[in-house]
Amino acid sequence: MNQKNNRKFLNRRKKLVEKIRKKGISDESVLQAIESIPRHLFIDSALENRAYEDSALPISCGQTISQPYTVAAQTELLDVSTGDKILEIGTGSGYQAAILCYLGCDVYSVERHEPLYLSARHILRDLGFRPHLKCGDGSLGWSAYAPYDGIVVTAGAPVVPEDLIKQLAVGGTLIVPVGDQKVQTMTQITRVSKEEFEEKQLRQFKFVPLIGKKGWD
Ligand code: SAH
Repeated sequence: MNQKNNRKFLNRRKKLVEKIRKKGISDESVLQAIESIPRHLFIDSALENRAYEDSALPISCGQTISQPYTVAAQTELLDVSTGDKILEIGTGSGYQAAILCYLGCDVYSVERHEPLYLSARHILRDLGFRPHLKCGDGSLGWSAYAPYDGIVVTAGAPVVPEDLIKQLAVGGTLIVPVGDQKVQTMTQITRVSKEEFEEKQLRQFKFVPLIGKKGWD
């Protein structure tokens, strides 16, 4: 990552990391990523002062940049290693994609709103990251590059999207919030073998809806 924006708000990021650690995130590489990625660059400059609060904030197209704790929790559950091929559904601001790039993943990310896709592309490039981005319906995954070692959905789905399960590599993990439009249960699905999956339900979160063929109408 380019170093130019790294120092601004560094103290605020350190405080944010301590807050997230207290909330239960213990993966040091994830905490290091949160400390290093300049979240203020992924939101409107008018909100810059709130960038290191542990809260979701509005971005364009009526969407939100996820709460830092939520990004950390989803990333920790993905349990990535350097070189893993990771698919993200819902690029939004590009912040979660930046965290995954920082951790050395080969990142693929799909966003349905073109203005968000374009601004995320710009900021990620500016930071020196090179994820593969696409504008389209991510509820269908991104089959051209499957299988993935991990898939993370950053919008709430009504059911687990079956295309995403099919695009998981053996040993890979899918992290997807599933529920109604008010509250979703974080769901972790691991592909144990070609035909066998293990599913765990974790705590509840609140995401913007996953809109698409295998999401909400
Ligand atoms: N990961 C983002 C979170 C953005 S909120 C970040 O770090 O900022 C979730 C995003 O999912 C929104 O931008 C929304 O437009 C997008 N989304 C919803 N349904 C989608 C779909 N079917 N395909 C791709 N993106 C979708």
